[in-house]
Amino acid sequence: MYIHHRIEIKPNQKQITYFRRSFGIARFTYNWGIDMWEQLTKEGKHRSAIELTKIFNGIKAEQYPFVLKVSKSVPEYAFRHLQKAYLNYFKSLKAGDGKYGKPTKKKKRDRFGSFSFKGDQWLLSWTNKTSKALESKPHNLDHKHQYLRLPKEHTYVKMMEPLRFTGKVVSVTILQHSDKFYAIFCVNITEEEYQRTHKSTVGDGTLGIDLGVHSLMALSNGLLVKNPKILEKMEKHIIHLQRKSERCVHPHSKRQHKKGVQKSKNYIKACARYSKLLRRSWSIRDDFDQKLTTCLVRHYSDIALETLNVEPMSKDNIGKNKHQGNKLNRDAAWNTLKTLIVNKAKRMGRKTTQVPAFTKTSSVCSLCGYEVEGLTVRNRILHCPNCGQSIERDYNAALNIEKYLGMGSSETSGSKPADCGALLSDFKKNRIVTTQVEPGRKYTRRSDKSFMPALLV
Ligand SMILES: [Zn+2]
Repeated sequence: MYIHHRIEIKPNQKQITYFRRSFGIARFTYNWGIDMWEQLTKEGKHRSAIELTKIFNGIKAEQYPFVLKVSKSVPEYAFRHLQKAYLNYFKSLKAGDGKYGKPTKKKKRDRFGSFSFKGDQWLLSWTNKTSKALESKPHNLDHKHQYLRLPKEHTYVKMMEPLRFTGKVVSVTILQHSDKFYAIFCVNITEEEYQRTHKSTVGDGTLGIDLGVHSLMALSNGLLVKNPKILEKMEKHIIHLQRKSERCVHPHSKRQHKKGVQKSKNYIKACARYSKLLRRSWSIRDDFDQKLTTCLVRHYSDIALETLNVEPMSKDNIGKNKHQGNKLNRDAAWNTLKTLIVNKAKRMGRKTTQVPAFTKTSSVCSLCGYEVEGLTVRNRILHCPNCGQSIERDYNAALNIEKYLGMGSSETSGSKPADCGALLSDFKKNRIVTTQVEPGRKYTRRSDKSFMPALLV
């Protein structure tokens, strides 16, 4: 099994220059590959990453000598990524889902970039062999830091933590994300190595998950996971920095760029601060997602998820305007959560089931199966006129989703928040905030915004 291990690295100024050059060459070869791919298509010839590499290697020394300054596997991997992009595009053309578009040319970006090189060109060391200070006095005796040797340059870059997995390293990707640099190791590990390095599973049981806006997740055991809403919390700061950078001197349009208006130093500084903040919000959110999904997969062996249909969720159904709705969606990022759950469950040997699309989960009573008509998203409580049940809307949907695990039988495990003490303590450890719904509570107050069908009134 392949596992990706991302480790932060601290390059010096010389190494940053080397990285930026490699980013540029990876981008250049990718864009060159698109042109060549289209040309080969017109001529009706075979197209693949190997073919592109062959053609490129034939002409690079003559036409593009600057490419020789970096490792030869940088263009190789750029062509591989391009091939993957085209294959994805063809696949989604066939399926007609429009998931992947046609590969487009990459643009130069100031604080972003990546390039990959082959697994046999790297070297890990506990000492920085290029450091002159090392000769006189040994450092890093407690083995806190490892150093990664870069191809071609053969300088050692400091890693913030050692590589945790033993196995064959297939490739290494260097990534710049705003103010930070990362090395991503793709390691091929065995099942035993996975068991050794990851937390073991704790419990078995079935779980239905309903993803939503009001609470990020409603679980069929009666817990509601609160959305941390990082973007909303940082919104003021983000807008402030965005406006600040707009006020600085810089080319506002292509015309001004042609006239020769340069980016001012203050503009570059403001942009750096802005992108740093966005990177930080992404990091916090990623940390939360990873912790939450690991907790869930560890405690449940059978997990049911709904097929996401973001369109109706995002627009008028939220009850606010479109702009507001999209903002809420970005803060929820359901697709990321879903992919994480599915992938982690696969690795841990757990099962996930997807409820078929367009199945009614929220408007159907979980107790008797009666379909309540005329329910909108504003109604948080569902009152069933058939059996008289009053139930929190998202919790009801989660129960309906869990039913799919029983293959048609309408029984749920019936677990309550009181039963999942281990899960709650795991949540508490990871600082994930949850609230509990009280099944069977009568919601009578008007402020509940509950929906009363005509039958009852
Ligand atoms: Zn009912």
